[in-house]
Amino acid sequence: AQVRELVESKLATIPDFPEPGVVFRDLTPVFADGPAFHALSEALTTPFAGRFDHLAGVEARGFLLAGAASVLCGAGVLPVRKAGKLPRAVLREEYDLEYGSAALEVHEGELAPAARVLIVDDVLATGGTALAAARLIERAGWQVAGISVAIELDALGGRARLDDRYDVRSLLQY
Ligand code: 5GP
Repeated sequence: AQVRELVESKLATIPDFPEPGVVFRDLTPVFADGPAFHALSEALTTPFAGRFDHLAGVEARGFLLAGAASVLCGAGVLPVRKAGKLPRAVLREEYDLEYGSAALEVHEGELAPAARVLIVDDVLATGGTALAAARLIERAGWQVAGISVAIELDALGGRARLDDRYDVRSLLQY
């Protein structure tokens, strides 16, 4: 509860960004606050303690959270990158966003077979991004240990698309 209050106290809410009708939750003030960033990074992995070997950070804000959480819990990071950034052979998943569409990629063979991977991101909205990351991990031959986000936007239905197959946790819900 203390962690939730600390993170919530730093969170910014921006109406009509990046387009009219979208309420954008901005974690940059949380990242800018050392104790809040530390507490958030720790809270993302504690519910999954002992159940994962790696953290998958989704570009770009997920990189910050996965990187910080990695140092705290000792698990390595799998960067889940936007298309065209990774230099070796990749797997690719196309997906729809709350606004627009995109593709995510991971390097084939980056992790050992059956590695348990916890997906980390800042916000769960429609769930398209997390689902694409989960599909990539499974197609690569690894296991999804769960999906952990700082903020879940309930009205956008991400959990319903994911929680029949994955353990989905969020620190804050709106
Ligand atoms: P989804 O694919 O679940 O619809 O959207 C989640 C992805 O879009 C995440 O990678 C997240 O960073 C970004 N996103 C969607 N809505 C917001 C928002 O309100 N704030 C932030 N910071 N990111 C968002």
